[in-house]
Amino acid sequence: MDITGKQMPTTSVNNCGNYRRHRNRHLQHQHVMVRTEPLIRNSSLWVNSGEADPMAARFPGIDSTDFLDAITGRTSCRRCHRSRKYYCYTCYELMDGLAGRVPRVALPVDVDIIKHVQEVDGKSTAPHAVIVAPDRCSVRTFPDIPDYSDQNAVLVFPAPNARTLQHLIDDYRHDVGPHPDSAVDNGSVERADKQLPFNRVVFIDSTWRQTNHILRDPRISPLLANRTVILSEHESLFWRHQRDSPRTYLSTIEAIYYFFSDLQHILDERDGNGGHNDHRYDNLLFFFKHTYNKLRLKYNI
Ligand SMILES: [Zn+2]
Repeated sequence: MDITGKQMPTTSVNNCGNYRRHRNRHLQHQHVMVRTEPLIRNSSLWVNSGEADPMAARFPGIDSTDFLDAITGRTSCRRCHRSRKYYCYTCYELMDGLAGRVPRVALPVDVDIIKHVQEVDGKSTAPHAVIVAPDRCSVRTFPDIPDYSDQNAVLVFPAPNARTLQHLIDDYRHDVGPHPDSAVDNGSVERADKQLPFNRVVFIDSTWRQTNHILRDPRISPLLANRTVILSEHESLFWRHQRDSPRTYLSTIEAIYYFFSDLQHILDERDGNGGHNDHRYDNLLFFFKHTYNKLRLKYNI
C-alpha cells in the first residue's frame, strides 16, 4: 500500500457479468475513482509529510514497536484497577507482561513535567517519558509541585530572556573557567567542563492559559528570571497539532527528546565528536512512534 496516498485507488474494478457497464462508468468517473492526493493533507489531526516513513527516517534508534500491535484488549492496572492497554497514564506503570519488553532510556539529569490538574491525562504524551525513563522522569500535578527556587534547575519555556542550550553551556564554561580539574564526583576527578550547569530540567505540559497560572507560582517563578531555556526549532510530527499554530510547536515528549538530543549534539561538538549521532535518546519516542504509525495507517496517508 502506498501510504503517502499517491495514486491510490479507492475501489477495485467490478469484474462481474456487468463488467462493461461498470467499466464504462468506472472510466467516466476515473478522475474520481483514482485519488491522486492524500486523503487528509492538513488538518488539526494530521499533516501529511509526503515521506514514506518519517519516524524511521528521523529516529532510526527507536526499537521495533511491532509487539504492541499484538495487544488487542485492555487489562486492569495493578494499582488503580482502571482499564488500560499498554500503560497506565494515571499511575505511570506498564501493564503486566510489557515490563522488560519496552525499552529504557538513560538520561543525564532529572526531568520534571508539570501538568495542570485540569489537563486530560489520556491525551498527553508526558507519560511516555516516565514509562521509558522512570528513574529520571516524574509528572507533577499542579499545584502539588516542589519548590524549584532553591534547585539547580532550568525551565524549558520561550521566555523573552530564555537562552539556547548552546548559550547556557557556553556561559557555564565561561563562568567555571577553561580547565578546572577540581570537581570530585564518586571519588573520581571530573573536569567541570564535562559537567552540566543544571541537574534538573522542568517542562510544563498544559494549555497556555494554565501555563501562565503555573508560571506565577512563587515556587517556579524564580526560574523565569534567568533559568529558562528555549529549544532550537524542530518540526513536530504530533497528531494533535493545531491547524493555526506553527509546525514547530512540539508535543511534550518531542520537546523532551529534542532537549536531550540537542544537548548531546552540543556536548559531542565540544568534545570533538561532532557529526556522530548515536541516537541514544530515540527511544523516548517509542510510544509516540507507535501511535503515529497507527494513525498513519488508519487514515491511509
Ligand atoms: Zn493505574
